[in-house]
Amino acid sequence: MAIDIKPEELYFLPLGGAGEIGMNLNLYAYGGKWLMVDCGISFADIYLPGIDLIMPDPEYIGERKDDLLGLVLTHAHEDHLGAVAHLWPELRCPIYATPFTMTLLESKLEEAGLAGQVPLHTVPLGGSITLGEFDITYVSLTHSILEGNGLKISTPLGNIFHTGDWKLDPHPLVGEASDIGALKSLGHEGVLAIVCDSTNVFNEKSSGSEQDVRESLKALLDGHNGRLFVTTFASNIARVETLAKVGDALDRHVCLVGRSLKRNVEAAKKCGYLQDFPQVVSEEDAEHIPKDKILYICTGCQGEARAAMMRIATNQHRYISLSREDTVVFSSKIIPGNELLLARLHNMLTEHGVHVLTEKDHFVHVSGHPGQEELRQMYKWLRPVISVPVHGELRHMTLQAELAKKWGVEHQIVPVNGSLIRLAPGIPEIVDQVYSARLALDGNFVLPEDDDAIVMRRRIMYNGAAVVTVALDQGHKISGQVAVTLLGIADSEEQELTQMIIAAIKKETDHITVKAGKGDRNIAEAMRVAVRRICRQFSGKSPGPQVTVNIIRV
Ligand SMILES: [Zn+2]
Ligand SMILES: [Zn+2]
Repeated sequence: MAIDIKPEELYFLPLGGAGEIGMNLNLYAYGGKWLMVDCGISFADIYLPGIDLIMPDPEYIGERKDDLLGLVLTHAHEDHLGAVAHLWPELRCPIYATPFTMTLLESKLEEAGLAGQVPLHTVPLGGSITLGEFDITYVSLTHSILEGNGLKISTPLGNIFHTGDWKLDPHPLVGEASDIGALKSLGHEGVLAIVCDSTNVFNEKSSGSEQDVRESLKALLDGHNGRLFVTTFASNIARVETLAKVGDALDRHVCLVGRSLKRNVEAAKKCGYLQDFPQVVSEEDAEHIPKDKILYICTGCQGEARAAMMRIATNQHRYISLSREDTVVFSSKIIPGNELLLARLHNMLTEHGVHVLTEKDHFVHVSGHPGQEELRQMYKWLRPVISVPVHGELRHMTLQAELAKKWGVEHQIVPVNGSLIRLAPGIPEIVDQVYSARLALDGNFVLPEDDDAIVMRRRIMYNGAAVVTVALDQGHKISGQVAVTLLGIADSEEQELTQMIIAAIKKETDHITVKAGKGDRNIAEAMRVAVRRICRQFSGKSPGPQVTVNIIRV
């Protein structure tokens, strides 16, 4: 049973994004009311077969939704807003975001059939809103997407700075530079707590500037004879602009490949960015342009199956194919977990005879998250009393806490999802561990991550399945053939195993009189156990295939 929060106390509670990089969902409470910051997704791994996306279970706040004042979004990355369309029906609160973030959110809500139902409030850059006793001001911070924002959250018990995702890039190329003036004056005003991005804390230096990447790409992309393909994160508008401008400067036509890329560029233009973006050509027209006169900007820098780069590499793209003289540049980093996918993609590209250039041997990417130099600068400006690292695995967050201590911050608290932290009054501490879990998006449905269906799928995926159907007459004798279907069992094993299963079923049927009083369910269960034993003995694997026995009465 969760403790009741006290209206005179100020709390922070992450339900997602603490102990992991992805699916951020943060809550603040004061005056008995709640404020939500961000509501994102993560990509599922191979342990969730058939599931693409996961998100935080909002049950704790869902049960308190009458006290939820609103959802404030920091920026438009999927790990910050990707779950809104799925979870908003449980929360039904107003949503606040800056223009670019709001534009992308609107199109997601429309896709989900929620257009017009969600109270949306667009806040200008640097703008303020008041929700209950929370006064919230957006503070522009550079990141790898347009309109990265930190939030100054003022309460009667002190100021919190919720950084969101950020870096300090003096030359972000597109969009606002970090509002250092606002950070300095916040530091003078006094900061009770910083809740801060930990993603890039292992980098001892700073993350680097988009301007430097532009210079490097300009040199790297010059002097090639074949087609040029560059893949990057679709939402990194500054990078996309760099590629388009470099293409233009090299006298190459530019073609955007991939739906999310076109959507992001359109949203940026709609919000007043990219006003001198070069004219692009369609995929269809690009086919007829000489090889040394075209540059394709593609989605799929993580080797995603349905994205442009993979479709091109597997010859599945309608208009675009690869040939020997071509060059493919990955202007991105490998997100941990995607190594195998990307190795596969690189091998496929190599098979086509194209040159593959990546961050391993060329300067083609900078991170959007703060390295230690930037973190130290932020702590120096703000001088917070409490450091709460988030947006990291435990090892990232722990290192940020250690650094904060070294830099003179009095209290450091490393939360996990569900840690209810009392920030004030008194010594800050974790006062409760509330319910937190993950949900999985299964096609059109949202399920608990440990739902039986998913557990069963995993079992079948690794062990295969055996489905046995037996028709019994009223005297409990087998009528006709026993039907056995084996899935995920090698052809060479199938015949022998089928015979063994049929023999086991017949043997069980001989004993039925004893069990008959217990009903068909018990008979089927006894048969299932017998078949499972046979399968295990036969295969030498434990657990063997998932076994199902159906009894039909004739
Ligand atoms: Zn981000
Ligand atoms: Zn993020």
